Amino acid sequence: MATFAARKKSVEKEKRHIAILGSTGSIGTQALEVLEANSDFFELEVITAQSNSDLLIAQAKKFRPNTVVIGDENKYSEVNDALFPLGIKVFAGQDALAQVVEMEPIDMVLTALVGYAGLRPTIAAIKAGKQIALANKETLVVAGDLITRLAAEYGVNILPVDSEHSAIFQCLVGEFHNPIEKIYLTASGGPFRGKKRDELLHITKAQALKHPNWVMGAKITIDSATLMNKGLEVIEAKWLFNLRQDQIDVIVHPQSIIHSIVQFEDGSMKAQMGLPDMKLPIQFALGYPQRLKSDFERFNFANYANLTFEKPDYNTFRNLQFAFDALQKGGNAACVLNAANEIAVEAFLKDEIGFLAMSDLIAHCTDKVSFVAKPNYEDYVQSDEETRRIATQYLN
Ligand code: NAD
Ligand code: MG
Repeated sequence: MATFAARKKSVEKEKRHIAILGSTGSIGTQALEVLEANSDFFELEVITAQSNSDLLIAQAKKFRPNTVVIGDENKYSEVNDALFPLGIKVFAGQDALAQVVEMEPIDMVLTALVGYAGLRPTIAAIKAGKQIALANKETLVVAGDLITRLAAEYGVNILPVDSEHSAIFQCLVGEFHNPIEKIYLTASGGPFRGKKRDELLHITKAQALKHPNWVMGAKITIDSATLMNKGLEVIEAKWLFNLRQDQIDVIVHPQSIIHSIVQFEDGSMKAQMGLPDMKLPIQFALGYPQRLKSDFERFNFANYANLTFEKPDYNTFRNLQFAFDALQKGGNAACVLNAANEIAVEAFLKDEIGFLAMSDLIAHCTDKVSFVAKPNYEDYVQSDEETRRIATQYLN
């Protein structure tokens, strides 16, 4: 019996213990599917959500994590009443989010929450030595230099979940000592590919929320329609792969089969391809360095006679250009870009501004917010606040 118990313990120890921040979202729910399909490999420790208490409770009842955090403090009693009898610890609020990631058994934190809110818990997780599976690209956009410096200091890997960055990472496995000449981030082009500015004036929320190839949360779906998502990904790639701006190119590939491309110094190009399904990059990040078996649908060449490529239209989709400009400018410029964009998308989703006005608002903030050349954490927090204030004034 003793031997059996010891063996069981060692098997258990080999399991990877996961925290999912933002478990009720598009990435979060797909991550739970990955964990469920690989329950021998993963153990769920923590799940969190901002306000969807019903789904959070249902997930906790099913997956029995150790701890749950609800962002909205008004929903604490509802969640606690439901989960306390099951022995699940419940906390509420942003401070709790930054604290739970430090819990001892956690090996890896999947940041599947949306927006600037990811910054603080990601920093806390890195400082606690947890590996990061990063979906929350906004964190790297806001403070890429700080995050990558901390990750190096604490010996933490940041494993990309974003499909393009996962593609590049997959191409780099076995190539880490070979310099990258250039990367090509592929973009679907979104629902308005080929349209000109005058055709985008009266775009509605419903039209912008219909993405041709991916089903995602509302914010990233709007970002995909404006190409801001690709802009954020350019900045994300800079920090993840330590690239100069001129080493990053964007190519529109409407079928979303080639997820991105690395070009090495001998001219050889490696691409990673497959059907668009976020479960694959989620699983690759959570399981790295292993490729876990999956039953995801396989690509069938017969269904794709053509894979096509075109240049992005930087004049119509100004946000993509803004992202390159922010990289060029450095300092807090990308933090300002991100905050202005979060306010712009929120206003568009509330029908307060039109589709093209989102870019106007971002340009206004870029102009008005004070520039900080070498920001520290407090500077980022302040730039974020200042941008939100200036953006809100502009809207009123
Ligand atoms: P979503 O809106 O579907 O889900 C967001 C999750 O974060 C929810 O669980 C929500 O409760 C939580 N959340 C929202 N605001 C919060 C706050 N202020 N504090 C704490 N938690 C909060 O979003 P999503 O589409 O799953 O995207 C999540 C992240 O992953 C984003 O950064 C997005 O850019 C990135 N990403 C998503 C996809 C995708 O296919 N959905 C692909 C690549 C990258
Ligand atoms: Mg992406």
